Amino acid sequence: MFKRFLFAILFAFLGFIALILFNTFRFSKTIPVYPSAAVTGISDSAAVHLSRAIQIKTVSFGDTLAIDTTEFLKFRGFLGTTYPAIHQKLPRQIISEFSYIYTWVGKNPSLKPYIIMAHMDVVPVEAIAEKNWTVPSFSGMIKGDTIWGRGAVDDKASAIAIFEAAEQLIKENFQPERTIYLCFGHDEEISGKRGAAKIAAWFKEQNIHPEMVLDEGGQVDTEHFPELKRPVAVIGVGEKGYVNIDLVVEKPGGHSSMPPTETAIDILNSAIEKVRLHQMPACITAPVHQLFERIGPGGGFVNRMALSNQWLFKNLLIHQLEKSKETNALIHTTLVPTIVKAGIKDNVIPSVAKATFNSRILPGETSEDVLAFVKKAINDERVTVSKQQISLMEPSNTTSPDHPVFKKIEALTYKTVPNVIVSPYLMVGATDSRYFRSFSDAVVNFAPMINAKGFHGIDERIPITDLHRMIFFYKMLMTEK
Ligand SMILES: [Zn+2]
Repeated sequence: MFKRFLFAILFAFLGFIALILFNTFRFSKTIPVYPSAAVTGISDSAAVHLSRAIQIKTVSFGDTLAIDTTEFLKFRGFLGTTYPAIHQKLPRQIISEFSYIYTWVGKNPSLKPYIIMAHMDVVPVEAIAEKNWTVPSFSGMIKGDTIWGRGAVDDKASAIAIFEAAEQLIKENFQPERTIYLCFGHDEEISGKRGAAKIAAWFKEQNIHPEMVLDEGGQVDTEHFPELKRPVAVIGVGEKGYVNIDLVVEKPGGHSSMPPTETAIDILNSAIEKVRLHQMPACITAPVHQLFERIGPGGGFVNRMALSNQWLFKNLLIHQLEKSKETNALIHTTLVPTIVKAGIKDNVIPSVAKATFNSRILPGETSEDVLAFVKKAINDERVTVSKQQISLMEPSNTTSPDHPVFKKIEALTYKTVPNVIVSPYLMVGATDSRYFRSFSDAVVNFAPMINAKGFHGIDERIPITDLHRMIFFYKMLMTEK
């Protein structure tokens, strides 16, 4: 009897192991390689044009009074003289003074249009960081094979590549099959509310339903997946939401020579700590799951085993992903304090202390969930918790990798990036394209840059080969039927 029991256990155990191995080996297929085309026919002047674009300081500041609008006017002039064919042939609409929609009418009005977008503004370079740059930050210097300066990657490379591609095609008397709208926002770095939001509203008003909206976001990664030994192109298919949560504590202050046991600052401090002590629950959303499906088969045995047996190893997988801040942000709604304010004088105990948490919300959750989490974590009536409405953006819906538009960008990526693996991706930052997600199920974020570096940071730069590949990519998209 006992022997039979032992056998049953052994049998179950072997079955269990067999199932894990079966799943692992079924998951272990070679990720195919598709033929790519050589990047040809791109004018050498493109690099010089990007260099000049960088030199025009179209900087967005949070304090809008600090924005130098003459630079944005200068940029408009630069576009006009650098791309005469576009400005002669394509009607341009000006939105909120400095954002633009160019309409390139297609041959076949029955086809739904494409919207190809980029933004022209850049983030500032802090005076203190300037000395850490290898070249002056707005010099647009071309050193060897690389173009340097603020905006070289984010997002003037895309803007210039789109203009270069269209200019060249228009000069060759090319007319696209479907109508293409080229859209350029001027305030993406400060929410896009005057630029992209108004551009999207215009499309809604005109009742235009695009077949595709393509914006910045995903690119080609060569660092984060070393096991694969191949570049991975991540195409953004959805964005996390955005909300700021305010914490306010009011308590009578007084002279600092006779402090009470607890001040407004102390209460706020402990509230911040309580929120930071825990994370909102982990969730593997559809785009992240799809990323595993695409890249998993090329990984090592242990990774393949974990990814193909998530019913068993899910917690281990989550634990692993939580170890790096990049992957942690993919599976959690994040919360971090970004502004803390209290006090006006060194010998006065302040009567009010405030903090702002910035939160990026996973698809499937809402800003109300974030608010409820913060209130519950603090659990202290002396702390007033509220969410800001002004910058609130709920998470977007996501584009399916089975959508023809995803497949189109995927196919173009195989053609432009040799040996690449393509995957959907959840964007943890926000882009202008979020304003289109409410009325289009076909928003994708991608440009085929491979070695672009330093966006929003020091030594922002892009190799000329990347810029040329991007122009080639946009040209293929514009000329496809
Ligand atoms: Zn950007």
